[in-house]
Amino acid sequence: MKSPLVIYWSRRDFRLRDNEALLEAITYSKTKNIPFLPLFILEEYMTQGEEFGYSSQYMIAEAIPSFAKQFTRFAVVHYKGAGYFDLLSKKYNLYIFVNDDVYPDFNTQIKKLERNNIQVHVYKDRVTVKKDTETGSGNLYSVFTPFKNAVWNEFVRSAPLPKADASSCTHISKNEFESLPHSISPTDIKKLCDKEPMVHIGKHTLKIPHKPNLSIWYTNEEDALNHFKSFIKKDGISGYKEKRDSLEEDTVGSGQTSKMSVALAWGFVSARTLVHEIQKHFDDAFEISTQDEEHNEGALCYISELIWREFYGYLLFNHPELMHTEFQKKFRGTISWVKDDIALVRFKAWIMGETGYPIVDAAMKQLAETGWMHNRARMIVASVLTKNFGVDWRWGQEYFRAMLIDLDEASNNGGWQWGASVGADPKPIRIFNAELQAESHDKTGAYREKWLGQDGFMQRPLSAPIIDHKIAREEALERYNLKHVKPRDF
Ligand SMILES: Cc1cc2nc3c(=O)[nH]c(=O)nc-3n(C[C@H](O)[C@H](O)[C@H](O)COP(=O)(O)OP(=O)(O)OC[C@H]3O[C@@H](n4cnc5c(N)ncnc54)[C@H](O)[C@@H]3O)c2cc1C
Repeated sequence: MKSPLVIYWSRRDFRLRDNEALLEAITYSKTKNIPFLPLFILEEYMTQGEEFGYSSQYMIAEAIPSFAKQFTRFAVVHYKGAGYFDLLSKKYNLYIFVNDDVYPDFNTQIKKLERNNIQVHVYKDRVTVKKDTETGSGNLYSVFTPFKNAVWNEFVRSAPLPKADASSCTHISKNEFESLPHSISPTDIKKLCDKEPMVHIGKHTLKIPHKPNLSIWYTNEEDALNHFKSFIKKDGISGYKEKRDSLEEDTVGSGQTSKMSVALAWGFVSARTLVHEIQKHFDDAFEISTQDEEHNEGALCYISELIWREFYGYLLFNHPELMHTEFQKKFRGTISWVKDDIALVRFKAWIMGETGYPIVDAAMKQLAETGWMHNRARMIVASVLTKNFGVDWRWGQEYFRAMLIDLDEASNNGGWQWGASVGADPKPIRIFNAELQAESHDKTGAYREKWLGQDGFMQRPLSAPIIDHKIAREEALERYNLKHVKPRDF
């Protein structure tokens, strides 16, 4: 006879506050008097160094032990994937509680479990608003501003849930816990996650040449939340609208953007919690109906950025094919990217920060050294890789997947499709002029100086860009079959 077991399947949601799956699992366990077990599956791909970059390896090795410490028993198992529950269901009647994700693989795993008659309860998490939000004519949104207007109130009204406390749940016995198949200690994750990551681009596989210094990042809920609170206190939100786009401001202290993408990507905090902290600080609900009243501009702008994150999550959930293909159908298979051997040379120069465009090189060094890059810089390097160098946006997406400490598949995909001008929210093709971008967003050169070093920055004019911008611009229009279009220089 199988015994019942309530599982909180922890994925990228290492927090006690506003964690619906965790709260529901605890409630179920208590009301039915069934033992409770929080569990993380260290999936094999995470330890094979194939696509799981240094940043992701580092983060799970740091975040899981510190999250696990807050529970009486927290299991970490090393297994292929969610198939682990099939194994466990031989001994237990499982009741699994999990927060959702918009990455297509998540739904495949859930469907498999359901097919095998395993009870799984999935809770809304990655996207706060309704994932099936429709326009007045019953279609899905594809443009940001109307989407934002439609979901704004729902977003700001979604109050965070209370902090979870599993201390009064019953647990499986120590013996049972220790004999869970494929169980490892949370601290063993570090030993297993020490592989040299690779990036697969087109038919090539490249070793990642950089190992960022990731010790600069917070790795748990308390530190992430404190980071945000001090960002608010230091007027980070009030000054956000003017300063968010400035690369030179990014060199001051811990920067003029919140650096909450890491917390959101790993689930140390929820978007609802961030909104709630802003509402508390300004004593304002920020509802759309009152937007003609006085509101803090910085706060409105910050909430709007959080809704960009919602938008990309919504798009990927509803269009899982976007991981591999363009949102705009007219660009599917129609862009003539440069030949493979040329692309490879340019791509390598790009990842090494040796393109000859100082702003691009500085940004690529920031990524290589910290696992993170400022949003403006991400837009510039994405535009240069795809437009100036004619390299397929999927290559850039893959490299970012391997490098980013804040990797969020939906935002990364959305950012790349935007950068390549093939995504939703279509605008006329934007071909960023890297020099003009540097002049407007790094006026004093502080950002370039920081990442290239004074000497590197001063020497830059000596090594010309590997492709002249004017030529690149013409070539890009041809490649996109847009020779008739006259894009504005950004
Ligand atoms: C090519 C490219 C790839 C990107 N990849 C990722 C990624 O993997 N993970 C990720 O979280 N963001 C990604 N972004 C979006 C953005 O660059 C980061 O969210 C932002 O730089 C994070 O810094 P911050 O937390 O200090 O942002 P803040 O300016 O403080 O913004 C607050 C929050 O709003 C959200 N946000 C801000 N800008 C955007 C945006 N353009 N798109 C979506 N959400 C946004 C983020 O959650 C961010 O933490 C990408 C953008 C581009 C152009």
